[in-house]
Amino acid sequence: MKRWVRDLYKESGYVYATRAWEIAKGAGCPKIARLASNENPSPPSPAVVAAACEAVKGANRYPPENQWDLLAALKRWHPDEHMVLGAGMDGVIETVIRVLVGAGDPVVISTPTFSFYGIAAAAQGARVVLCRREPDFSVNVPAFLQACRGARLAFLCTPNNPTGNVTPPEAVAEILDGMEGVLFLDNAYVEFSGTDYRPLLRKYDNLVIGRTLSKIHALAGLRLGYALVPAWMDPYLEKAKTPFAVSVVAAAAGAAALGEAERAKAYAAHVARWRERYTKEIRWKVHPSGANFVLVDVAPLTGTEAMERLAARCVLVRSCASFPDLADHYLRVSIGEDWENELLIREINAL
Ligand SMILES: *Cc1c(COP(=O)(O)O)cnc(C)c1O
Repeated sequence: MKRWVRDLYKESGYVYATRAWEIAKGAGCPKIARLASNENPSPPSPAVVAAACEAVKGANRYPPENQWDLLAALKRWHPDEHMVLGAGMDGVIETVIRVLVGAGDPVVISTPTFSFYGIAAAAQGARVVLCRREPDFSVNVPAFLQACRGARLAFLCTPNNPTGNVTPPEAVAEILDGMEGVLFLDNAYVEFSGTDYRPLLRKYDNLVIGRTLSKIHALAGLRLGYALVPAWMDPYLEKAKTPFAVSVVAAAAGAAALGEAERAKAYAAHVARWRERYTKEIRWKVHPSGANFVLVDVAPLTGTEAMERLAARCVLVRSCASFPDLADHYLRVSIGEDWENELLIREINAL
């Protein structure tokens, strides 16, 4: 029966980085520094846990059509924007693609970057067009605009995963001015960057900004994301989205977590402090980052060699070998708790 499976899934799929974890387990590590997935190292607060527990009591019912508490909590962060929710930003990305892209339509992606845009676009039958960044990972705006000619949708991540660099809002504005289709600007890490692209929403009706509660708000395991969208797009996204994608538990925890602005701020400050220390104290080249991770160039080692050796020393990091259009000598290293970061610096310098 396997012959009925689409060719697309016979070849590729999302690459989960599980190898480091297996090596560390095999090495009998007493404690493991988890710096591979850009997660917030602190568990949700007791208030967030309590809200989730309360919500699960009603889990025999489907979620309501409108999750008002969550929407109200988001409104406090984004008073002027239209929003659509999803099961992670990944869910929102799929919905946006469904609305705009049909079989054979080109979708442009600024690479090297997060792999899910390409996977989700290909699933919809799109023709995926990769547009490579400059050697310093800045976006070549004329080349990107050239690639975008005739495209209905393009993806640009800033701060970019895995390179960490920030594309200035002026460059994004130039892209929005020059392209006809819609730009999906992935802002999963924007809260760590001190940059705000939301003012562009008032000027451009072809901009969608993706956001998530997985990173700064510490809810990666609950799958909750959203996008700030132009008003015209709102009703179409509502029609195309997967029904009841945001669970009652995720909605309740999300509303509570969004109320803890001080906590988010403290985490962002912790990240900024450690980014500086990483840059100063790691003996390899550390690329400038506006995110809760940095890209480290470990040449002449390969990313995979370095990842395996660090895992054997109880530190999990991400080898960037699977990212399209990126050389094989990079690691992506998250900022975790103090002890994890200190261990990372010690071990990466000993490679
Ligand atoms: C983590 C991440 C997301 C968010 O994914 P969720 O589905 O919300 O967990 C989106 N884009 C990038 C680039 C990311 O790194």
